[in-house]
This record gives sequence, structure tokens and C-alpha cells, in this order.
Amino acid sequence: MTSTIKVDLKDLSPDALVDFLAGMGKEKFRSVQILRWIYQRGVTNFADMTDLAKSFREELSQRATITSFTQETVEVSSDGTRKFLFRLHDGRSVETVLIPMESGRNTLCISTQVGCAMQCSFCLTGQFGLERNLATSEIVNQVCAVRKDYSVDNIVLMGMGEPLHNLDNVVNALQILYAATGFDYGPRKVTLSTSGMVPEMSELGRRIKVNLAVSLNATTDKVRDELMPINRRYPLQKLMEACRQYPLAPRQRITFEYILIQGVNDSQTDARRLVKLLHGIKCKVNLIPFNKHSESPFQAPDEHAIRTFQTYLLDRQIVAIRRAGKGQDISAACGQLKGRIESKSEAGD
Ligand code: SAH
Ligand code: SF4
Repeated sequence: MTSTIKVDLKDLSPDALVDFLAGMGKEKFRSVQILRWIYQRGVTNFADMTDLAKSFREELSQRATITSFTQETVEVSSDGTRKFLFRLHDGRSVETVLIPMESGRNTLCISTQVGCAMQCSFCLTGQFGLERNLATSEIVNQVCAVRKDYSVDNIVLMGMGEPLHNLDNVVNALQILYAATGFDYGPRKVTLSTSGMVPEMSELGRRIKVNLAVSLNATTDKVRDELMPINRRYPLQKLMEACRQYPLAPRQRITFEYILIQGVNDSQTDARRLVKLLHGIKCKVNLIPFNKHSESPFQAPDEHAIRTFQTYLLDRQIVAIRRAGKGQDISAACGQLKGRIESKSEAGD
């Protein structure tokens, strides 16, 4: 029986595209032409692929589609950060944040799920639970849509969702980002952030190259269990072991994200334990003062406490960078993305 469901070519990794075309009796180099059309020229119509024979274009349009996102809204922060909201085919929506860096380069923060199952107590995304995984095409389409109007130099998988909870689609999306005839991002330009799904961290390292960021946020299992329930399954010792095993290129380092929360994880004792935990790992630390939101009683520490914590690390030769919560005034800062996942509770939506 022939299926009437068309394949979205943006769901296919470059290798899968070659296989798909082989199934139509086409040579491998056709995939190079098609990748160029889709990712370098942003074409979504087979009719526009003018270096392919007309009969081939027609056959393609019988069997496949190329989806794209239309931008629903964009909000611009006073610091230049832009938050895009994209509507998905099932009415849900996803958020993507473009962050201009001091260097003049742009970093794009993309989402990998609608919502998140991990339920970290400080994170707004986590409060709503997991709605669903994003398809490969939905991960990639965030990049396609923003690149239509802006240059994107670096990509971070730090938006909504836990990327390693959607590993297959994330790996496919990375392969598309890296394809030399597609977007052609080097693996050093892309960073994946995880809450610490230990087996998936090793699998990721085996399957593909990408910079790894780990949301650490605590220095004892007791506190981390409270902040990040995933810690009950993969406690600190297992997590740090997985970090030690993660394959790193010569000058590459793991990034540890550490949200500073007043009275919870910001003491000198925490700083001391953090130095111990990181011993022997090539790493840097991003210190992120907690971003306030309506669903949480937590507070950021005061300026003095933040500086003291940072200085303690710097004095012990740990690269510790303070991250400003960019885009605060448009709720685009870390952990503040929620798309339209709350719509379930809105009457009539
Ligand atoms: N799920 C992945 C990636 C997305 S979360 C992960 O947890 O790593 C992106 C980052 O936002 C994480 O480092 C998380 O610790 C941080 N974050 C979440 N809520 C925050 C808040 N209220 N203030 C500051 N950072 C927050
Ligand atoms: Fe999910 Fe990351 Fe938020 Fe935790 S911090 S709930 S893992 S998005």
C-alpha cells in the first residue's frame, strides 16, 4: 500500500536524505543540490529548484514537503534580545531567542521540546510539564526562520526542553546544522545544555560532536535533589563521572551553569564544594543570578554575595563568568520560556 503521508525533508538527516533519494533511484549528489536549496537559499518549493529536472521536481512534490515556520510574534528587549514565537501545526507554540553579543555576533537559543518533563523547581518551563517533543524539522525550522532576517553565529540548545530527552531528533538536527552543503556550522559553534541525563550524555558523546553545558546549580545531593529531581536518578557523583568521560577536543571545555539562588546555593561553603567537584575537569563556570518569575519564591543573591562567590572561584583558577540575564524585560531570559503550553488552562483555547 502506498502511503499518502509526505515526508518533510527537514525531518531527514543528510544521510537519511541520501537514502530517501536512493529509494527514488537518484544519485547521492542530488542530496547536495537539495540541501543547498533548502538550507542555504531557504527554498520551500520544489518548483524553485531549477537545477533539478522538471520530472524529478514533480516526483519530489508528490512524495515530500518542505515545511517552514511563520513568525507569530517577536518581542524586542531594551538590550537588543529578540524573542520569537512560532506556531506549530497542532496549535502549540515554541520560543526561540536571538541574543546579540558584545562581540557583534549573534547567538540563537533554540528549543527542543514543548515544555519539559524535568520539573526543576526554579524553572518556569518545568512548571508546565512536557507537552511533546519537537520533530527534527521543528528544531531546524527555528534556525531557518531566524536566519531569513538575521545572521546567526552560534547556536545554543538552551531554550524550552531537555535536549537529551529528545536525543534522536536533536542528533538529526545537529547533523543538519553541521552539513557542509547546508548550514555548515562547525561543532564548536553549537552548545547543548543538559540537566544531567547521564546515560544520554555518554550516548551523545559517542554519536556526535557538540559543546556540552551541564546545569549543575548545587553542590550537594540534598540541595540538588530539591532543585532538580533528575538528581535523584543520577546523583552528583555519577554526573561528574559522566562529565569526566565526555570526549573533549584539545582546547574544548565543559560549561557548568550555576544559578545563584539566595540562601540556597550561594554560600562560601558552596563555592568551596564547587571547586572540589570540578577538580580535574576541563571546564568553565557560568554564574547566572536567578531570574525571578511569578511561579517561584526564590530570589537572586545581592551583588556582594554574587561577587564573593565569583571571586572565590577565580582565585582558584576556575574560569567563572557572570552571565547577565539578557532579555529580562520580555521574559526571554534563561528558564523563562513557556510558549503557549499554558493554553490548556485558558478557557476556550
Ligand atoms: N533543559 C536544559 C536546557 C534548557 S534550560 C537544561 O536544564 O540545561 C536552560 C538554562 O536555564 C539551564 O541552565 C537552567 O538551569 C537555567 N534556568 C532555568 N530557570 C532559570 C531561572 N529562573 N533563572 C536563571 N536560570 C534559569
Ligand atoms: Fe527542563 Fe532545563 Fe527547565 Fe530543568 S532547567 S525544567 S531540565 S528546561
